[in-house]
Amino acid sequence: MDTLKPALKEAPPKIGCDQCDGYGNILSAQGVQDCQCKIRALQYYRLKDARIPPMYIKKTLDSFQAKTPDQKKVVQLAKEFLEVYSVDSRGLIFMGGCGTGKTHLAVALLRDLIAKGHSGLFYNVITLLDELRSTFDEGSSLSQWPILEKIQDTDILVLDDLGAEKTSGWVNDRLYAIINHRYENKKPIIVTTNREITELRDQVGNRIYSRLMEMCRTVIFAGKDYRIQMMQGKF
Ligand SMILES: [Zn+2]
Repeated sequence: MDTLKPALKEAPPKIGCDQCDGYGNILSAQGVQDCQCKIRALQYYRLKDARIPPMYIKKTLDSFQAKTPDQKKVVQLAKEFLEVYSVDSRGLIFMGGCGTGKTHLAVALLRDLIAKGHSGLFYNVITLLDELRSTFDEGSSLSQWPILEKIQDTDILVLDDLGAEKTSGWVNDRLYAIINHRYENKKPIIVTTNREITELRDQVGNRIYSRLMEMCRTVIFAGKDYRIQMMQGKF
């Protein structure tokens, strides 16, 4: 796996170094390739644009405290996901109570996929809906389409805390449109939710729920003992 880890604490990396004589590209046996300086710069800006909240920005798979066999199993599953990830991979649903590390793992996967050269976006579901809703405010000069376009185009989308939103016809229609667009275009999502399976189905309705089940493998983080139950299936 790519060992480059984008970090935001330093100044933005510049494209152009001694290796590439400032061009950002190098000529190799395989043809013209991006220089490491350009790869680092692209990763930096992709990570910067991924909307990962500051409190999660440093979360990695290595910093996930896997103590129990089940925790180790879920880290292994996450690594497997990274290994086999491609544009038409199935995604993941991390299901379970607060403080079980679901968001940590989702962010860690997002960061690692960005490090591997993919684009990605993190969105808390309530924040996303608020941003879309605010474009309809009287006097707003914003449109919902640039937000939706970014969500549609990105390689990997993390939807954090699905099920915490207040349900309405508009909310479910928006969520379905977003999820279904990714389904139809074979683009994976990683979802976290505090809801249990039946609660989630009741909350988001059957059409969203069944799309999610088809698109994702479910990992259930249950109880204080961190029992993790993984649904069968492949990515
Ligand atoms: Zn260079």
